[in-house]
Amino acid sequence: MTAHRLALLAAPEVRALAAAGAPALWAIGSTEQHGTHLVTGFDLASAQAVCDRAAERCPRDVALLPGLPFGSSDHWLPLGATWSLSPTTLVSLVSDVARSAAAAGFQRLTIVNGHAGNIGPAVTAVGGLVADTTVVEFLSYWTLVDPERIKALSPSDGGGVGHAGEVETSIALYLGGLAVDERLPAPAGKELSEGPGSSDPIIRAPRPLTEAPSGVYGNPTTATRELGELMIEAAADRLAAHLTDA
Ligand SMILES: [Zn+2]
Repeated sequence: MTAHRLALLAAPEVRALAAAGAPALWAIGSTEQHGTHLVTGFDLASAQAVCDRAAERCPRDVALLPGLPFGSSDHWLPLGATWSLSPTTLVSLVSDVARSAAAAGFQRLTIVNGHAGNIGPAVTAVGGLVADTTVVEFLSYWTLVDPERIKALSPSDGGGVGHAGEVETSIALYLGGLAVDERLPAPAGKELSEGPGSSDPIIRAPRPLTEAPSGVYGNPTTATRELGELMIEAAADRLAAHLTDA
């Protein structure tokens, strides 16, 4: 048992973790509509599941920060059921948490993201930090898994994460408690070949009202528990190995 939840510790224990060189792990997500079938807190729950497992598997002490339940989700505001931080707010928020980690004496802060809309602001924040004493790093959990292994289990979405599509619905089936079971399988949404998650090098602003009015990018109908297990467990293994070697 090497996972330490900072919010449940008093200051002396937190200071001791920092002094001992424990890496800090911070899951960030969103609270946003995830189609008719997944809960609005899905993105933090999935990123947190990866962090929790990685911390348990790492032979070192790991400090788990309280996860961030809000993300940059302006694109889903028109569909309701969404709470969004503007991109500039998220840049400031990530910068402030990183500065605090450094001030608290942590030598490493690893931000584990569960929401694609957070990538731009978080990368901007990390790029703006001058981290002489603290290493600040950012990743989205799905990038920790070999894309070929994802593809092999992803007949509809080709390994693309999308939004409430094949990959996320599979994770919900695996973790439990993140889907409304009687609404599964949910209908297919916007095909990923033309949306977020495609291999198209051109980045376009999402237009959810015209291209994904159901709130789904991808196809949840082919989700499997097996794909969900791969996404969470392989990501956690890789993250644990990274924290062990870091
Ligand atoms: Zn999501």
